[in-house]
Amino acid sequence: MNYLDVDIYREFKCIADACPNTCCVGWEVFIDKNTYKKMAEKEEQLGIPAKEWLKDNGEIVSVRLDHERCPMLADNNLCNVVMKLGPEYLSSVCTIYPRAYASYGDTIERHLQISCPEVIMKLMEKHTIEFDACHDQSPAPEYPYTQLYLFECDVRAFIIGIIQDMPQITLNTRLFTAYTILEEGIRMYQENQLDSGKLEKEVSFYAGESVLRNVETQLTQVVNGSSQYRFAEQLLKIADSYNQRYVRLFRLVRQAMAYFEEHDIGQYMSDVQEFKKACLDTYPDFYTNYWVYRIFADTLSVPDYEKSKEKFSYIAIEFALFQTIAMAAFAKRGSLDHEEYIYIISTISRILEHTENFRNVLMNEIHEKKLASAAGILLMALI
Ligand code: SF4
Repeated sequence: MNYLDVDIYREFKCIADACPNTCCVGWEVFIDKNTYKKMAEKEEQLGIPAKEWLKDNGEIVSVRLDHERCPMLADNNLCNVVMKLGPEYLSSVCTIYPRAYASYGDTIERHLQISCPEVIMKLMEKHTIEFDACHDQSPAPEYPYTQLYLFECDVRAFIIGIIQDMPQITLNTRLFTAYTILEEGIRMYQENQLDSGKLEKEVSFYAGESVLRNVETQLTQVVNGSSQYRFAEQLLKIADSYNQRYVRLFRLVRQAMAYFEEHDIGQYMSDVQEFKKACLDTYPDFYTNYWVYRIFADTLSVPDYEKSKEKFSYIAIEFALFQTIAMAAFAKRGSLDHEEYIYIISTISRILEHTENFRNVLMNEIHEKKLASAAGILLMALI
């Protein structure tokens, strides 16, 4: 088998009690029956009967949260299962998270879920994201979509190249161009013409600096502050109407909504600039790394390649949402709070990773209200 990993995959180490947004709070974790059995056997050592903190409905076992916390999470935010029994007693879900895998025949791609704050911190610290390939002797299963997978990989590599290699061009221009290349790849797929060489020639034209500069100039005329302002304001209203479970996050959402009631477009534009400057001064490579990472992890759509466009838009919505909430918090405080920024990004990702409905609500409302096209979303993502 071949393995393709994002570089931080192998380096990852949970920071446990130092985590600013632990995954042991706010999530209903499902565990395997075998772990339930082990927890029942060791309940004396754990100091709590298994049936008091685990719910077995016959088919699945889940953790009963106590004030949103896993009952095994001690006050010092360390896990009692690990401390009292050892890490080998953790359920597979707890052992695996935030690691994620996708199989494409003879290749497995591995990354980490962005809802883990340690992953976000790594993306903030790193200068650039790299990818590692390796191979072992495990047998590969039959796979009917290898040709499409390899084509999608080539298109993804072209896109990542533009985003990573042209930092002198604004990020929204790079994303818009990346999206254009994706559309071209999908058009070739629809016409049953998976020709990476041909697409590469087109990409070398799109990726020329003078072409990108030209696109950059045109985009500044298309997207203005008022459309960005209205888009961000609407996005908050949709988010607010959906889910209030994450109390701290929704307090920040309300704060951001109040920001839009109190500030006009002029002030918004100036605050956005200040916010972006503060972020880029503190984490100069974060935005590029974030997008490269997400495009690697979340845009392949074998065998239905058309879905990739939708996935690209999801990432832009997510980005726009956390940036807007963070910008309003920044404007209120007058400075960037590292812990709060990471909390906002990880919680939004957590909701979107685990509540598909929230993502659908956001996308449907955006389409129904005609707030933006998919390409428009990229341009208004507060970047
Ligand atoms: S969210 Fe990540 S760093 Fe935090 S406790 Fe969970 S696995 Fe560890």
